Amino acid sequence: MTAPSAAELLAARPHLAGHAFDGLLLEDVPLAGIAQSFGTPTYVYGAGTIRARCRRLRDAMPCVAVHYAIKALDHLAILSLIANEGLGADVVSGGELLRARRAGFEPRKIVFSGVGKTGAELRQAIEADIGQINVESAEEFWEIAALAESLGRTARVAFRVNPDVDAGTHEKITTGRATDKFGILAEEIFALYAQAAKAPFIDVRGLAVHIGSQIFSTEPFDAAYAKIAGLVRDLRGAGLTVPAVDCGGGLGVAYRDEAEMLPEAWAGVIAKNFAGLDVSRAVEPGRWLVAPAGLLLARVIRTKRAGGGRPVVVLDAAMNDLVRPAMYDSWHGIIPVGPADLVRAPEFADIVGPVCESSDVFARNRMLAPLAPGALVAILDAGAYGAVMSSTYNARPRAAAVLVDRGRAALITSRQQPADLFEGEKMP
Ligand code: PLP
Repeated sequence: MTAPSAAELLAARPHLAGHAFDGLLLEDVPLAGIAQSFGTPTYVYGAGTIRARCRRLRDAMPCVAVHYAIKALDHLAILSLIANEGLGADVVSGGELLRARRAGFEPRKIVFSGVGKTGAELRQAIEADIGQINVESAEEFWEIAALAESLGRTARVAFRVNPDVDAGTHEKITTGRATDKFGILAEEIFALYAQAAKAPFIDVRGLAVHIGSQIFSTEPFDAAYAKIAGLVRDLRGAGLTVPAVDCGGGLGVAYRDEAEMLPEAWAGVIAKNFAGLDVSRAVEPGRWLVAPAGLLLARVIRTKRAGGGRPVVVLDAAMNDLVRPAMYDSWHGIIPVGPADLVRAPEFADIVGPVCESSDVFARNRMLAPLAPGALVAILDAGAYGAVMSSTYNARPRAAAVLVDRGRAALITSRQQPADLFEGEKMP
């Protein structure tokens, strides 16, 4: 299977374009200028692309509340942009809750997911009066009930069901099988739900499910939602109220040339399964909203050509900046930024980072124009699970980040300075 060419990658990404003099542009702004002003490696995000994707999703499912899973990209500037589009937020830690509130999400539009919320985080959520806590176990529920009572505040909860459905995605991002650590098995929900409905200071909102990430077909969603809809009917049959269902995230994006499942198809499976149930619906997508809107801009340090093998292009970005290829074997398009490099005949090359790990490889055997030291490349679709998963491994300062909006590029994260690497460290 041949990989898509630079021209094909660009054609599939309308926010990117190759310009004869300025080289690669993101939302009409030359990336070479950004590298010159802010250095490399730098994450670059397109505000227009994120807004357009928020609108696209909302338009595809007008009757569904959209809570952006902020774990995908949690920069305050991006969050505030998404909050301004009217979306809510899905958070998984006290830190994310703080970020969501700081960015301006209304507390009632915040959902708190996650298998290991601490007592302090639960208290923070109840005190903030957020819209919903998605409960992952009976143990967690009773802790919430006790906390709410001691605070004299109502906690709104939904129970996350483990539907025992395989999302058919990468092993490390599937979450809905009975063997995964997430959610409560369907057969255990019933008794817990009935007890919760009677608990003081608890407002039971309904059920939640999230089966995994990077999903391309309606089938696993359909199987999971059918289970949830069945549970809604059973619970109601027992006289319990189920006002809402949270349908999770997981809509996949084409990093290479995968056939994407459209938001309308997702909306269709939700509508089909919950038709006639008079239940309010929500989703919590992360990746789909932001992945294509971001790229990692990097510079070639040098190309190793010794040994007669494929050239090895060493970038100044590494797995500490973008861990997805090393962690999930994920494929990212890589295209040159310089105008001449964009059109020069490509050769097969490996593209790697400087970290001392054999897994610090962005791409193997990839067609790429021969690049001189100092040439720029863009690693595409790095908006989701990119900067948020970065580290300072090998004592590498964290990358800068730039937001392009209406033709202007603004620095939104300063590059970490080497001396900041040991901030907080103490000599005993
Ligand atoms: N909701 C929950 C509970 C999650 O754990 C995740 C991601 O892991 C998401 C939503 C977002 O998933 P995605 O980015 O694939 O849409």
